[in-house]
Amino acid sequence: MKPTYHELEFNITCIDTEHMRKDFVAAYLIEHNGRAAFVDTGCHLSVPNLLATLKEKNIEVEAVDHIILTHIHLDHAGGAGELIKHLPNANVLVHERGAQHLIDPSKLRAGVIGVYGELFFKQFLGDLIPIPSSKVVIAKDGNIISLGGRILKFIDTPGHARHHLCIWDEQSRGIFSGDTLGVSYREFDTEQGVLIFPPTTPVQFDPQVWIDTVNKLLTLKPKFAYLTHFNRIEFTKESADMLNQHINGFVAIAKKSANEESRHKAIKDSLLKYLLNIATQHGVELDEQQQIKLFKGDLEICAQGLGVWLDKEAQK
Ligand SMILES: [Zn+2]
Repeated sequence: MKPTYHELEFNITCIDTEHMRKDFVAAYLIEHNGRAAFVDTGCHLSVPNLLATLKEKNIEVEAVDHIILTHIHLDHAGGAGELIKHLPNANVLVHERGAQHLIDPSKLRAGVIGVYGELFFKQFLGDLIPIPSSKVVIAKDGNIISLGGRILKFIDTPGHARHHLCIWDEQSRGIFSGDTLGVSYREFDTEQGVLIFPPTTPVQFDPQVWIDTVNKLLTLKPKFAYLTHFNRIEFTKESADMLNQHINGFVAIAKKSANEESRHKAIKDSLLKYLLNIATQHGVELDEQQQIKLFKGDLEICAQGLGVWLDKEAQK
């Protein structure tokens, strides 16, 4: 198979895992002094693309030292169990709240099937394979690893999920941000720059904690964010403000829809209106049907996550 990937600067490659569609879910490969690390893996079905990328770039499987997972949502981590089987020298670095779920993924599997359904799981995520505990290493806030001498630093970044880490790469002044610095599809780029919105995925969305995290990351003075969805963007104070504004915007929609009879549908409809509106204001000229197609997957999941958040708030 011929993998699709984009070579970025600083020996970083953005691999298109081709989960669901092209330009939707990225995994990254960092190379330094003959050593390599993956950041996120896509899902189980994405692993052939990752291995084909190594082959295409003449990187031996023995040269891969790490699989770093930003968090354990399956579009980021679902492939790790399969991938590690092919990488004899690699370990898996993960947040302490995620580690156990990689070693015994039964709860994670049940949770994902609860959200997406069995059919989706089999068809689009494929499988979820346990990782031997000897291969799993917990990465804590402030921990540093060296990739052939290149320093990568872990930062605890709750808000999207409590098991979320970001990775700071001093060399590129970039943050491998998983879902924490938002979702931004290249189709929505305009003269005004990038359009960013928050994936408020179930079940740990926490708006204020997330905003605090975004502001904390901004103090690093990053130049780039390497987003899972999708590819590298320049990340500025304006990017952070946009993301925080839309976290609040999504929360306002959830609150307004809280007492609607068909709450999920009400949230989803309002979210779509909101996204189409911000796209118009951003100068996006794609026709509406195309925009709806691109937003579709996020709408369902974001609406579910906001519903879970409302239920938790109601219990406080
Ligand atoms: Zn996620």
